[in-house]
Amino acid sequence: LSVVSIQPCDDYTPASVERAVRLALADLGGMNRFVSEGQRVHVKPNLLSAKPPERAITTHPTVTAIVVKIAMENGAIVAIGDSPGGAVKGVARALEQTGTRQAAIDVGAEIANFETGGVVPRKGRDRTFQVLRHIAEADAWISVPKLKTHVLTRMTGAVKNTFGVIPGLRKSEYHKEAPTQKEFSSLIVDLYSVAKPNLIVMDAVVAMEGDGPASGDPRYVGFIIASDDAVAIDAVCARIMGLKPDEVLTTTFGAERGLGISDLSKIEVVGCNLERAVVSDFVLPSNRARFIPGPVAKLLAPLLWVKPAINRELCINCNMCVDSCPTEALHKAKPYPYFTYDDCIKCLCCHELCPERAVYLAKSWLASRL
Ligand code: SF4
Ligand code: SF4
Repeated sequence: LSVVSIQPCDDYTPASVERAVRLALADLGGMNRFVSEGQRVHVKPNLLSAKPPERAITTHPTVTAIVVKIAMENGAIVAIGDSPGGAVKGVARALEQTGTRQAAIDVGAEIANFETGGVVPRKGRDRTFQVLRHIAEADAWISVPKLKTHVLTRMTGAVKNTFGVIPGLRKSEYHKEAPTQKEFSSLIVDLYSVAKPNLIVMDAVVAMEGDGPASGDPRYVGFIIASDDAVAIDAVCARIMGLKPDEVLTTTFGAERGLGISDLSKIEVVGCNLERAVVSDFVLPSNRARFIPGPVAKLLAPLLWVKPAINRELCINCNMCVDSCPTEALHKAKPYPYFTYDDCIKCLCCHELCPERAVYLAKSWLASRL
C-alpha cells in the first residue's frame, strides 16, 4: 500500500505552504523518515523555463523553500538545482526569474550547478543513462514537481520530473530516440527506475491546464500533495485532473514495472478525500489525436494531424526553438524560423521551450474536433 497525502493550501504565502507541507509530511511519518543529520540532500523543483511563478510553468519558489527549510531542520545539508530542457545557457536565468535563487538564499541552501557537476552512468532496463552527479551521489533527493498538463505525456508530475536529472541537451536527444508518446513514456520510466526520489512534494496549489507544460494556463487547484511513491502520486493527480491513471503512460508503465502503485483502490489517500479534490472542468491538452486506438489512427492518419507551427504575431525570432530541435526540423530565418515537417518527430521541444508561447499546435479539421 502506498500513502499519498493531499493537504489544502489556499495560496503561496509562506504560512499557508508551510502548514500544508508539514501536515503532508506528518501523514507520511515525518521528514526524518527521508533525510537525517549530516546527509547531503538534493531538492529538485521543476524549473522548465525562465518565467515568473505566476505563469505556473515552474514550481513555486515558496514550496521549494519550505521543503528545504524542513529538510535542514532535520540536519541535512541541502542543495537546490534542476536541468531545464535545452537551457544550458539559461539555467542561471531560470533560477533567477522563477524566484528560486532568492528562495535558496533566504533559506541558506546552496545552489548546485547541475551542468558542471558531471554525470554518473546508471544502467536502466533499455539503456544506460548519464545521471547528473549531484543527484546520483546525493544521500537522498526530494522531487518538488509542478502539477501540469503535457501535450506529449498528457500530464507532467512526479515521474516526469525525473527527466531533469539528465544533463542539458542530452534530453532533446532522448526525444529523438523515443519520439512517440509510448516510447518517450517508457524511456522516462526506465530513467525513473535508476533515479528514484526518496520523497515527492507536489506543488498543486496553482497547476497548469490546457496545452502544458509551457503554453497552458494557470489553474487554481489548492493542494500540496506528498508521497514517497511517484507512480501513486501521479495516479492521484491524474484523477484530480479528470484523467484515468491508465491514460498517463508513465503511470501505467511505472506500475507494470513494479516501481509503484497506480491502482487507486490500493493507494491510501489521506488528508483530503480524493473524489472531493477532483477538478471536474480541468482543461486537458488539446492534441487528443494521440489517443485514438492504433488501427483507427492509421486509417485516419492523412486526415488527422497535429503539428507545431509558429504564431507570427508572437514570435520574436530568438531561435530558442531552432536550438532545441533535436532533428534540425526547424531552421533560422527572417522574420521567423520555418519547419521542414518531414524531419519533425513531434517531440514538441520547440513548443515546450518557446519563451513567447509562439509555437502552437496546428491541427487538421478532424483532429480539432476530437
Ligand atoms: S517561435 Fe518562439 S522560440 Fe522560436 S524563434 Fe519564435 S519566439 Fe523564439
Ligand atoms: S520542430 Fe519541434 S516538434 Fe518537430 S522535431 Fe523539432 S523541436 Fe520537435
